Amino acid sequence: MDDLGRVYLVIAIVAFIVAMIGYWILSKKGPRGAVLGTAAMIYFAGMSLPPGNRRELHLIKGMLQLTGFAGGILGVVDIIFRRPQSQQAEYVAVELVNPGGSEKPPAMERCPRCNSFVARTSDGVCPSCRQSLNDRTVT
Ligand SMILES: [Zn+2]
Repeated sequence: MDDLGRVYLVIAIVAFIVAMIGYWILSKKGPRGAVLGTAAMIYFAGMSLPPGNRRELHLIKGMLQLTGFAGGILGVVDIIFRRPQSQQAEYVAVELVNPGGSEKPPAMERCPRCNSFVARTSDGVCPSCRQSLNDRTVT
């Protein structure tokens, strides 16, 4: 392998690592299926490149297909193992209402009638439906 070949190899490895980090961020922040969709786009971009004799083209085409394939595996794993977004949102909501667990009384609670989160007010009445929060039986 000549010097230029070695340079290309290093570039290819760095590009692959950057792509993996990109997939990881997308898996954390992106919507469900974003990793798989991005991987498919990268893979088909690689497929659509014409096969050429030039080494640079070979490298780019090979890298795109390899990165797309690896992302495809990650994307499937991401879809299978990721919790649905609604569950995550529910968990965050509970944390906000009752931070740090049960030692502290929650600043807010659910209204037994309209089921909305309401702050404890001095009169102890739900601001939206006037249900008494001290009386847990729904009237
Ligand atoms: Zn209410």
